Formats: sequence, structure tokens, C-alpha cells
Amino acid sequence: MPRPDLIARLAERCTRREQDGLARRLHAVDGADGVRVRRDGRTLINFSGNDYLGLAQHPDVVRALQRAGAEHGVGSTGSHLICGHHREHVWLEQALADWTGRDAACVFSSGTMANLGIMQTLLGRGDVCVQDKLDHASLIDAARGVGATLRRYPHADAEAAARQLASARDTPALLATDGVFSMDGDVAPLSELAAVAAREHATLVVDDAHGLGVCGRDGSGSVRAAGLTQCEVPVLMGTLGKALGCHGAFVAGPQEFVDGVVQFARSYIYTTAMPPALAAAARAAVGIARREHWRRDKLTTLIARFRAGATGLGLPLMPSTTPIQPLLLGDSHVAVAAQHALIEAGCLAIAIRPPTVPADQARLRITLSAAHDNADIDHLLAALESVRASFA
Ligand SMILES: *Cc1c(COP(=O)(O)O)cnc(C)c1O
Repeated sequence: MPRPDLIARLAERCTRREQDGLARRLHAVDGADGVRVRRDGRTLINFSGNDYLGLAQHPDVVRALQRAGAEHGVGSTGSHLICGHHREHVWLEQALADWTGRDAACVFSSGTMANLGIMQTLLGRGDVCVQDKLDHASLIDAARGVGATLRRYPHADAEAAARQLASARDTPALLATDGVFSMDGDVAPLSELAAVAAREHATLVVDDAHGLGVCGRDGSGSVRAAGLTQCEVPVLMGTLGKALGCHGAFVAGPQEFVDGVVQFARSYIYTTAMPPALAAAARAAVGIARREHWRRDKLTTLIARFRAGATGLGLPLMPSTTPIQPLLLGDSHVAVAAQHALIEAGCLAIAIRPPTVPADQARLRITLSAAHDNADIDHLLAALESVRASFA
């Protein structure tokens, strides 16, 4: 048998995915003005972004980027340990540690790299990594990447997590969960998981990509909103590309942990540091997110308005209190048809299909932002009412 050709094998996989109606497609956004985006020649209200607080185009954040760009240039010119670590990174790390109530923080170029860095710092081959089934792909891949034994428990089932930890009592163990689940919008049972981690001597890691900025009175995230501190949740990961409207990520926790990241996280060490201007922009965004409570208050109002309207229409809402408000449609073709119909009605809400979500759980992932207003929500509800026949 001749050796199979990799490109030919890939082409077959793509064809199969196409036949299953699961092919993924890129669409370029031509411009954005707040929640209004131009795509394929039409202007749509965006209900798919993660800019929950409406900071991605905030004038102060943009100005911070421009000012620091003029001063420092675009590129950081090196990795953190060589010459890429600027004072703007230091200031951002201090602001993030202060906001989240932690000894120290360390910035990464992306959340995916931060999750990998956490696992590279803490875990080795044969260690146990227990994770929620619905954890973000980057957490799962990170555990696999370091050769840990990955055990996944049914969604939000802290007792199942406890059983998995108890079945490997002699092995060093890490328990990892999303704070707010990216495709469902629900909040993890953090207090229960913290109790389990304490009982089983496992290190708890929370990926708060969707909780930071959104949860808690000052937006410091789902961990503090649950009344938990660095003692109970030693390792926190947050991203700068969601509610903060910027780009990049960070890990935060005890000083020994952050010191260890600089020594052992290959995804931190062997990559170019994020542009200092981006760090400056993110610091400006942190200040606004902390200060401007009205953004979270407005989100709460918009979420309530959407849920009341959707309930009235009999739409398949999921139990979420966060800006992630998916409509569970089940069949992938139905979800894609609904997405297209909504685009015709001026709303962008992307269908999320397997393998991103479990089989038969395709959904429209609707997200709300403080940059929306009541009229936008009403527009979306009217659009959903007009397309409801296709899936109700
Ligand atoms: C988006 C996301 C990430 C990855 O962050 P990036 O900065 O986009 O790489 C990690 N975890 C969760 C839960 C996310 O939603």
C-alpha cells in the first residue's frame, strides 16, 4: 500500500463535512460601528460578538492604543524574557491583579495560549486533569498537550468531579472549569467545585473568559461574584478580547504561581510579547469596566427584556443569566436556516453546530452587549417572531 497523501485525506474529510452540512465558512466584516456591522454588503445588528460591555470602540480605549502606539511603535520586538516586556505590560498586570484580587498577573497573547501555559506550568505527564465536559476547547487541548490524564465530568456536576478526583487520590490533580460557559451562558457551580477541590487537594483553575467584566458588582468576574478568593481558586485565567474589547489574555494568582509561569509556560516564553499599545488599551478598558457599573446594569436590563420577549414567543431559551443567550434548536440544518433568515431580517446571530457543541444541540448563539439598546432587542425579537415558523 502506498503511503496515504495527507492533503488528499484532508480533502476527503472536508467533503464529508460539507455533505453533513457542517462545513465552516469565513465571512469578512467590512466595518463596524458599535453593534452595527457591515457584512456581505449589508448592515446587520450584531448579536454574535463578545464585546459585552461595548468597549471595543470606546474612544478612551482607542485613544490609549493610538497614544501608546505613537510612543512605543507597533511591535514589542521580542519575547517577554528577551526585550519585549514593556512597562505597559507591567502596568496592565498590576491593574489586572488589583481588579481580580490576586497577588500577581501575567499577560499572554491569547486565552488559548494562557490555558496552555497554565497546564505547562502546573502539570506533567501522568498527572490528572479533571474538567467539565463543556469546558472551552483550549482547556481540553492544553491538558492533552501536556500529557495529563484527562477526565471529563458531566456538565456542572461537582459530585461527579469529586468522584473522578477520588478515583486517583495519589496523583497530583488539577480541576478546571469555565466560569461562564461560552456556548451555554450558564455559570459554573464554583462554590461546590471549590469545596470539592479543597476536599480532594486538587488545584482549581477557572477560565473566566466570559465572566470577567460581566459578573460581580465591579465586573471582577465569576469567582469573586461567588464569594471565592485566591485561596479557594488559586488560578484564574481571563481574556482581554471579550468584555474588555481588546485582545490577549492573562493568568493571575499567588506570586509563586505567576513566577512559575515565567519559568515554565512555553506558550509565554517562546512567543513575541503582545504589542505594548495593546496593553495600554486593555488597561484603559479595565478602568472603564471597573468604574462604569451602568454598563452591567444596562446589560441586566437588556437580558431581562430579551428573555421576557423570547419566553412570550415560546422560543427555546437556555437557563442563562449572562449576556450569552443561546436558542437551542437541535438540528444543524434548522439552526443554519434560522441564521440565514435572521440575516435577511437584519440580525447577525451565528449558528453554532457540532463539533463545537454536542451532537443534536445546534443553536443560535445570541449575545447581548451594553452597546445594544432596547430598540435593538425589540428588532431581534420581531425578527425571531417572523422566522420562528422555521424552527418552532
Ligand atoms: C475565547 C475563549 C478562550 C480563548 O481566548 P482567546 O483570547 O480568544 O484565545 C478561552 N476560554 C474561553 C472559555 C473562551 O471563551
